[in-house]
Amino acid sequence: MPSTPLHYGSLINGEERKGSGRKSLDVRSPFDGEVIGTIDLASDEDIELALATSQSVFRNTMKKMPAHRRAEILRETGERLAERTEEFAQVLALEAGKPIRDARGEIGRAVQVLYFAADEAKKIEGELVPMDSAVGGENRIGMVRRIPIGVVVAITPFNFPLNLALHKLGPAFAAGNTVVLKPAEKTPFTSYMLAKLFEEAGLPKGALNLVMGIGSDMGEKLVTDDRVSKITFTGSPKVGKMIKNQAGLKKVTLELGSNSPNIIFNDGDIETAATSLVKGAFAFAGQVCISAQRIYVQKGVAQQFQETFVRQVKALKVGNPKEETTDIGPMITEEAAIRAEEWVAEARDQGAVLLTGGTRSGNLFEPTVLVNVEPQMKVVCQEVFAPIVSIIPFETEEEVIGYANDSDFGLQAGVFTKDINRAMRLADELETGGVWINEMSTYRQDNYPYGGVKLSGVGKEGVKYAVEDMTDIKFVGIKLG
Ligand code: NAD
Repeated sequence: MPSTPLHYGSLINGEERKGSGRKSLDVRSPFDGEVIGTIDLASDEDIELALATSQSVFRNTMKKMPAHRRAEILRETGERLAERTEEFAQVLALEAGKPIRDARGEIGRAVQVLYFAADEAKKIEGELVPMDSAVGGENRIGMVRRIPIGVVVAITPFNFPLNLALHKLGPAFAAGNTVVLKPAEKTPFTSYMLAKLFEEAGLPKGALNLVMGIGSDMGEKLVTDDRVSKITFTGSPKVGKMIKNQAGLKKVTLELGSNSPNIIFNDGDIETAATSLVKGAFAFAGQVCISAQRIYVQKGVAQQFQETFVRQVKALKVGNPKEETTDIGPMITEEAAIRAEEWVAEARDQGAVLLTGGTRSGNLFEPTVLVNVEPQMKVVCQEVFAPIVSIIPFETEEEVIGYANDSDFGLQAGVFTKDINRAMRLADELETGGVWINEMSTYRQDNYPYGGVKLSGVGKEGVKYAVEDMTDIKFVGIKLG
C-alpha cells in the first residue's frame, strides 16, 4: 500500500477537479479487496470543460507547435518514466493486480512507445501532386499536407492501463492533437500519474485532459460530442460496437477482444511452443486480448506437447502480485473469476476434461487446461479472458485452418512449423490482423501494425500506424501567375 491513500480527481487544463459534491468511487485491490484509493468522478461541468479546453488548446497551441518540440516533449516524458519505473510499476501492480515483474515489463514497453512516438513526430510528411498530368493543370502546384485531426477521445481498459493509454497519447501528441483520456475506473491511478508526468515534461496545460468516470455513465457524452474528431477505444467488443454506433461521422479506432488460435504442426519445435504458450495463455491471468486461448496440435505430437505443457503449467506460482516470484496474480474482480469458474463447469458438463486447474479462491483462478472440448463451448468460441486454455488435436492443415477461422474474432495467431511454405500458406489463410510464425499469438511489439478483423476491431495501432489514423490529409493548391 502507498503510505498515504491515493485520492485523485480529474485533471483538466492542469487543474485537479475533486471534492465539491462530486461523486466518488473506491478502487479496490484485485488481490485482497482492500480499498487502495478513491477517485472523484467527473461532473457534467468537468466533462464540458475537458472538451472545451481540448478544443481551444488544439486550435491555439498544439496545432501550431513544431514537430521538434512535440518530439522533445515525448522523449522527455519517456526519460522521466524510465527513471520512475519502480514507482509506476508498484502502483500498476496494486491497481491491476499485475505481477510486479510483468508490471515492470509494461513500464519498459511504455517508455519505448514514447520514444517511438518522439521519432514519428519528426517523420510526418506530405507529397506533391503532379498537377500537369491533367489538361489545364499546367502552372499549378498541388500539395498534400498531413495535418493533426483535432480533439481525440481515448478510452482505455484495465489490463494494460499504462501502455495502452500511451498507444493513444503518444501518437496523438506526435501528430499535434489534444486528448481527453478516460481511463478504466478499475485502474485509474497510473493514468493520473502519467498525466502529471506529461505536464512535468512540458506538455502544455490542457493538451491532455483526464476525466475520471464510469464508462457506461459518461461514455456517450464524450463519444457523441461534435468537438471530437476521433475516438480511439480499447476494450470489449460489446462496448466497442456501442461506441461505433454512437460515433456518427467521427473517425474511430477500435481495439477489441479475441480467442486467439495457436497451431503446432508435427515438425514444430515442441519445447519452444510449450514454453512460450505457457506464458502466452496465462500471463496476467489470461486477461490479455491476444492471450493464447485455443491451442491446436497435430496428432503426431499431441501427446508430447500436452505432457510438456501441463508439466510447466503446474509449476506456475499463483498468488500475491507484489511478490517477485509470482507468475499469476488475481483476476480483476471476483465476478470475473466466478464467470471463468462457471464457463469451466459448463464445459465439463458438456464433456470437456480438465487436465489441471479449474479451482477458484476469491479472485485467484488457477491456470486451467482443458481437452476434449467442442467448438460451440464458451471456453472455445467466446473470449475467455481468464487463465483457461483448450488443447485441441487436428490431422491436416486444411482442417486446422478451418478450426482457427471458425471464430467471430481475428486479432493475432501463432503457428509453429519448420516448413516455410506451410508457414506462408498459413500466414495467407488465417483471418487475423497479424500472424506470428514460431512465436505465440501473445507476442506484441509496439512498432508494428496491430489491430484485428471481424469482432476484434477496426483500425490499427502500433505507433507509426496510429499516427496515420490521428491525422487528416489536406490539399493545398497554388495557381501560378
Ligand atoms: P470494457 O469494454 O469493459 O471497458 C473498457 C473501457 O470502456 C473502460 O474505460 C470503461 O469504463 C469504458 N466503457 C464502458 N462502457 C462504456 C460506454 N458505454 N461508453 C464508453 N466507454 C465505456 O473492457 P475491459 O474489461 O476494461 O477490458 C477488457 C477487454 O478489452 C477485453 O475484451 C480485451 O480483449 C479488450 N482489449 C483489447 C485490446 C486490443 O488491443 N485489441 C487490448 C486490451 C484489451
